[in-house]
Amino acid sequence: MNVTRKRSFILYFIIVAFIGCLGFFLFEYFTSASSWATNPVNKLATAQAGSDSTGRVYDRNGVLLAYSQNGERLYNSDKEIRCSMLHAVGDTEGNISTGVQTAMRSRLTGYNLITGLGTPFGLKTTGDVTLTLDSSLNKTAYELMSGQKGAAMIYNWKTGEILSMVSNPGFDPQNPPQDIGTNAAYDGAYVNKVLSGALTPGSIFKIVTTVAASENMPDLDSQSFHCDGSEVIGGSPITCTEVHGDQNFQQALANSCNIAFAHLSINLGANTMTKTAEELGFNKSFEVDGIPTAKSSYNVSTASENQLGWSGVGQYTDTVNPCHMARILGAIANGGNAVTPHFIKTSGLPDLIGNSGESMMSSTIADRVKAYLRWNVQNHYGDKMFPTGMQVCAKTGTAELGENKQNNGWMVGFSQNDSTPYAFVVVVEDTSQYGYQSAGRVASGLMQAATNLKK
Ligand SMILES: [Zn+2]
Repeated sequence: MNVTRKRSFILYFIIVAFIGCLGFFLFEYFTSASSWATNPVNKLATAQAGSDSTGRVYDRNGVLLAYSQNGERLYNSDKEIRCSMLHAVGDTEGNISTGVQTAMRSRLTGYNLITGLGTPFGLKTTGDVTLTLDSSLNKTAYELMSGQKGAAMIYNWKTGEILSMVSNPGFDPQNPPQDIGTNAAYDGAYVNKVLSGALTPGSIFKIVTTVAASENMPDLDSQSFHCDGSEVIGGSPITCTEVHGDQNFQQALANSCNIAFAHLSINLGANTMTKTAEELGFNKSFEVDGIPTAKSSYNVSTASENQLGWSGVGQYTDTVNPCHMARILGAIANGGNAVTPHFIKTSGLPDLIGNSGESMMSSTIADRVKAYLRWNVQNHYGDKMFPTGMQVCAKTGTAELGENKQNNGWMVGFSQNDSTPYAFVVVVEDTSQYGYQSAGRVASGLMQAATNLKK
């Protein structure tokens, strides 16, 4: 009797363990099989990428960007288009994890759960991928960057479609350089800085401080600020690029006065600054076509008064992700509602009517910040910088990196004209020039080129 009971117990135990393991396997199979089968280290997957049945990649106008022929993965015949589209399309080896050739490998190779990659030829349903990017505009952006490190992006703030997305350094995916792993010039070449970069923002962060001040200081427009070029605030100096004298808020923003913005962020306080930054999407990632972006960071939890002052001018430990910054600008353009950018074209309605997006601020605040940024362009940078009628709102920045490093030059903005709903972000790294000169030149050329976009 005892023996029977013991055997039954062992049998039950084995059955329960078997069901448990089977459940675990099925869970893993359904959730991860696609990535196992299409992982770049899986030789079959690599072979499939070169298979002639592997899907093609097109730009928004049907320009062929990547295809397979005679077992080889081939790219557009124009070298500059290949280089400019590198980070969106991806490389053959799968090193650029955010490119569609890796991120959408299962769709391109025709993987499915029942037959894996082994579906007989003729029955396999490989899918092509069409991007929202315009390869001609992207080539222009690449040329404007002139090989400088950094990133540039332009997107439609109504629909979320990314029209151009360039990251430097890069390389030619048709002929990857032999010394890519050892030559410092290629540091970061596998990273799409638009999606995965996080850089010191400098004065473009003053847009965040402007939102916080607009939301929390009813008397903002009647406040006055005085700048002698340098002032001891919280025990240490806050320095400015020049002596700005007496200014109202609008002038202080156009002058990009560090002293005015240091006082503003200290008066607003760490909690309010953090609350606004987080409402605008700092300290969390968002997804672009399922790809998580790098987080922008704002953390003043242990900052001194002086450091809180510097944080409000985009220094201290602040970092921003370029795509996130473009999204904030898009929200200001779009009545406070941030439409999430995407670069893979969907055939459904979202591209036509825009996705619902996420509210970052009220439409009243958005309109007010928009007016400040418009005044900046009209009275400071000059409307000549951009095509007639675009009515661009913008802000530049020159982020200091310290330790004898050069600066990051930034320009971010958007056209408030409904017929050219483009928002842009440009960052040029490692430059001795001001943002207005380095990134401004690229932003200006990019928006000029955008007037030729096919509707
Ligand atoms: Zn100043």
